[in-house]
Formats: sequence, structure tokens, C-alpha cells
Amino acid sequence: MAKANRVYYTKAPVTKNQEIEGEVVDITYQGMGVVKIENFPIFVSDAIPGEVVKVGITKVQKNFAFGRVVTRLKESPNRVKEVDQVAITTGIAPLANLKYEAQLAFKQQQVEQLFKKVNLDVTVNPTIGMENPTEYRNKAQVPVQEVNGRLETGFYRRGSHHLVPVEHFYIQDPKVDEAVTITRDILRELNISAYNEETKRGVVRHIMARRGFYSHELMVVIVTNTKRLPEAETIAEKLRAKLPELKSFIHNINNHDTNVIMGQWNETIWGADEIHDQLMNKDFVIGPNSFYQVNPQTTAKLYTLAAEKAELSSTDLVVDAYSGIGTITLSVADQVQKVYGVEVVEEAVEDAEKNARHNQIKNVEFIKADAPEQMMKWAAEGLKPNVVFVDPPRKGLTSELIQAVSAMNPETFVYISCNPATLARDAVEIIAEGFEIDGPVQPLDQFPQTTHVETVTVFKKQA
Ligand code: SAH
Repeated sequence: MAKANRVYYTKAPVTKNQEIEGEVVDITYQGMGVVKIENFPIFVSDAIPGEVVKVGITKVQKNFAFGRVVTRLKESPNRVKEVDQVAITTGIAPLANLKYEAQLAFKQQQVEQLFKKVNLDVTVNPTIGMENPTEYRNKAQVPVQEVNGRLETGFYRRGSHHLVPVEHFYIQDPKVDEAVTITRDILRELNISAYNEETKRGVVRHIMARRGFYSHELMVVIVTNTKRLPEAETIAEKLRAKLPELKSFIHNINNHDTNVIMGQWNETIWGADEIHDQLMNKDFVIGPNSFYQVNPQTTAKLYTLAAEKAELSSTDLVVDAYSGIGTITLSVADQVQKVYGVEVVEEAVEDAEKNARHNQIKNVEFIKADAPEQMMKWAAEGLKPNVVFVDPPRKGLTSELIQAVSAMNPETFVYISCNPATLARDAVEIIAEGFEIDGPVQPLDQFPQTTHVETVTVFKKQA
């Protein structure tokens, strides 16, 4: 994927309002096409690799510029003809203009290129995709704003807090979209105001809805800036009448001046405090603030594959680092002797422990700690797991963690990554510690229509 800040220019070779012609050679992390003039990158909305476009320059920065397509001189056969423009301009689905097969190929190539860049010769398998790569998200967090005197729900235009009204989010479960629009209509009917970030007046900031993919249990949360949600009981009655799947209706207060959507304070107005859903034969309890994978179908594929690659056996001692709510720990626990999870977010650890009890899983232990620190501690104490799983955030692993794993000397080290750039960087260090990559790197498409790509990579100690 293109990075803007590698080469430095004394003077940009383009100026604002100039028109240039060029071929699209890459896609950025935001899903924009990249056209290069004297190696200077121009980021162009709705332009895909292989296309030749006439571009009008809209903005020039020191090391890159932005442009828009004036004419498409050559169209890519991979272009989707009738594309949802809102999905693209808002950034909901920045790759929606690219045919799904091409999206999968692009993600595979991207992983290949990143390994090549660090001089590692690895085989990257074709990306495992979804059968239906739309309407997969089980959760929506939708901003609420007054637009032209009316309460609207939608999506912020890329890089702004300017709300574009949207009803169908293309990659979200249609039942989740429906729950949001029904809630919006009820708020309109009852004349409840939207919160205004500038004047700091008004009530509703966000609507959150999540629905169990397997359980079909639905939760609706209204996030307000005010302590009180007006007509809460009436809203509950109306929601119940229109949403037969509703299991939980919650009022959440967030009166902080921040981009964080949910506050810490919840009140259940109607129904249960939590909903349930199943993942890999385990039942998970999901509260309004709980983290839960947003694409349960691919998550199951991803973690099942990771567990298969680990070739687990009943005597194994396993470590799951960056364990979150314990999805990996709990799903492999039945197959092994014991699993330790380490995770830094306290609420996630509490959810993991709750889910262990709820599923009567006793051979697991979760530690709330910084993963590198805890791993070094375990290594120093002589903990010798047979298998280590890591599933770090985008910034990847640290040298301390890699050295701790090396000291633990497991038979198998499975790296689940959501950022192939840090994966490739870390792979160099892991190999320097005496490991080798075992079998092909496997990309999976956890977030179709976006530029994200997940991978599973297995490392084994060199013989
Ligand atoms: N497998 C997990 C998700 C992993 S996402 C699940 O299914 O729930 C990465 C996790 O790493 C997040 O839960 C994040 O809170 C955690 N994390 C981030 N930095 C960390 C650190 N320094 N130490 C431990 N955990 C960390």
C-alpha cells in the first residue's frame, strides 16, 4: 500500500487546479488511487489500479497532492459499474468500486510486496474471502446530527464531522441498519433533539445497535450528552412494537468532549443488560461496552485456521497474547491442557473471565497486563508453552515480546496480524531469533470492501 512520506521533494511538480494525465499504480490505505508524476504521488478518489485518468489537482501538500477524476480515459475491467457512491466518499467501503475477486487479489499482492520489501522470500496464499462480502457487520455506531432542521443519522464525510445522511450502510447487517432508522424515526416523532458539538446543546449523540449473527438478539443503545433520556419509556415501547428481535434497550451517557463514542455509564431502560451470541461453539455475553468481533463469520474462520495450524494436543500448554475478550483462549481450551491469556484492557479481561465461567471452562487464566512485560515475566519464571498465539493491534509486536517468545522456545508460534506491514517487520526479527516461517502466509478478508487484511503466519524453531 502506498505511503506518502518516503521521498522528500524540494518543490511539488504539480499545482492546484492543474490537470494531469496518468495511470493509477496503487491504492492507499484510505482506498484512494495513486497516480505518480515524477515519482510524486497524487491521491485520487474513485480511481483504481490499471486505469488511465485525467486528474484535476485539488490540493497540494509538500510530499503529495490530492486530485479528482475529470475523465476516465481507460477503465479497469475490475471496476464495479453501479457503485454506491456514498459508501466510497464517506469511507464506509472505500474498495466498493473494485470487484470482489480483485479486492482479494489486491490484498494478497499487498502482503507479498510487504514481505518482499523486507527481503523475505515467502509464499502468500490467495486471500480467503467471504461468500457474501456485504452486509456482514454485526454492529453499528451511528452519529446523530441535526441537518436542515431535522434529526439525521448517517456517516461523517471522510476526515470531518460533517454528517452525510445514510440509511443503508452496505457492509452492515440490514437488521442493524433497520434498528438505527427505526430509532431515528422515533426520536423525530418525539421531538428529541440531536446533540450539537459546537453549541454543546441538544441530547442524542449516537445510536448504537448490535445483533447476534447466530442468536439474532438485538441491542439498541442511545448515547446522550444529557444525564436524562427524555421519554425513555415511550421510546422503549415504540422500539418493542417495531423491533421483535429487541432483547435489550440501553441508555448510555457520554458528556465528554471526545471522539470516544460510548460513555462509561449505562442504564437498561428495557430488557436485558446484555445480549448473547455464539462463536466457535461458545456462548459469549456482550454488554453495551464490550468488545466483540464485528465480523463473526470470518473471525471464526480466522481463529479456526490459526488453531488448526497450531496442531494442538491435549497435553499442550498454550499462551494467547493480546487475548481481548478471550476468543482464542476459550475456543482452544477444550483441545489442550491449559491456556494463559494476557490483555491490557481491564474490561476485556473481565469479559473474558465472565465468558470462561459462563461456558464452564476451567483450564484458562487471564492476566491483566502489558503483553510484552507479562511475557518477559513468564519467560523469566521458566514458563514453557508448546504453542504461543499472538493477535496484536496494528502496531504489531515489540522486541521484548519476540525475545520472550524465543526464550520460551515453543514448538509453534502463531502470529495473527491485522497489519501486514508490522507483520513483515516483526518476521525479520522473529527469524533472527532462530525461527523459520512454516508453510505459506495465509491472508483472510475480515473486512470486505475496506483495505484491511488479516493474516495467519506460523513460525517454528529451525531444526
Ligand atoms: N483475539 C482478541 C482480539 C485481539 S485485538 C479477541 O478476539 O478478543 C488486540 C488486543 O490487544 C485488544 O484487545 C487490545 O486491547 C490488546 N492490547 C493492545 N495493546 C496491548 C498491550 N500492550 N498488552 C496487552 N494487550 C494489548
